[in-house]
Amino acid sequence: MLFSRFPRVRLTELPTPLQHLPRYGNLSGHPELYIKRDDFLALGMGGNKLRHLEFWLGAAYQQGADVIVACGRPESNQCRLTAAAAAKLGLDCILVHNTEPPTMLQGNILLSHIFGARSIYIGETDEDDRHQQALALVEELKREGRKPYLIGDVALGTLGYVNAALELHQQALAQDIDLQHVVIVGAMGGTASGFLFGTALLGRPFHVHVISVEYPKAQLWSILENNFANVGRLLEQEPTAKLADVATVYEDYLGPGYAQPTPQSIQTVYDLARTEGILLENVYTSKSVWGLRDLIARGIIPDTEPVCVFHTGGGPALFAQAELFQPR
Ligand SMILES: *Cc1c(COP(=O)(O)O)cnc(C)c1O
Repeated sequence: MLFSRFPRVRLTELPTPLQHLPRYGNLSGHPELYIKRDDFLALGMGGNKLRHLEFWLGAAYQQGADVIVACGRPESNQCRLTAAAAAKLGLDCILVHNTEPPTMLQGNILLSHIFGARSIYIGETDEDDRHQQALALVEELKREGRKPYLIGDVALGTLGYVNAALELHQQALAQDIDLQHVVIVGAMGGTASGFLFGTALLGRPFHVHVISVEYPKAQLWSILENNFANVGRLLEQEPTAKLADVATVYEDYLGPGYAQPTPQSIQTVYDLARTEGILLENVYTSKSVWGLRDLIARGIIPDTEPVCVFHTGGGPALFAQAELFQPR
């Protein structure tokens, strides 16, 4: 099989639910609107990074690691889920955060703490410097006789979303849905590029619309191209469909930048909560659901062609965004 060369730890049940959203579909003018509930991945309050972590921790397990190191800001979902997965596997977890220590723990960092991770705060600095400091920590741990594993091999983690494409395709067939469009979020692009590679391997059963929430379109596109090629090398597969056949990237929903809300993203949190009882947050998921709605309004996703949007999780971040939702 495709992934058999890669050790994988099972962290959660799959597949995640594929659900119809009739009331939000009605609001958006699209009767066949579906959502893929990766926020339901059943560990540590869920989210897309669990699919990556199954492969990362598989590699860690194979290498005999006893401590997992991950980097991110305190509000990182990836840090929270690494902490949860490490706890489940009985491994130590050290998180390297490029901020000053928060005065009060809330949202994801609160959960990372509850899961037993040790947090190190290196002060405001960029991702390159953070990476260098994490590498230095790894060396120090080795000198102490520990066996550290550093989270973040992009191509390896991406395999989780190659698998998600195969999973969604199977599931749509089984549920008799003639799925023609998928909307997925792109920040650093690992998630989207895995999904795109899987879609290309399948011979492009649906078109994938990638909503950028971090980088301008051209920059995200070059990241996707690079990752797509790297996943191909890792899997030793060359799909007949090219990236450009499978994907369109949009920067229209980014607003002022990463983790910066827009009026539409805030409104979308209310809309999905009040039509379907599903929670979004303002870094990733409300922008991708707003993008979906606008692509329908613009006719880019026709209302006759079934569409599915990925819910990639991130729910705990909502509690750190409370000021956006105070009743006025
Ligand atoms: C990390 C994350 C993403 C984006 O994934 P990338 O692979 O960086 O593009 C989307 N949604 C949530 C909730 C995330 O935590």
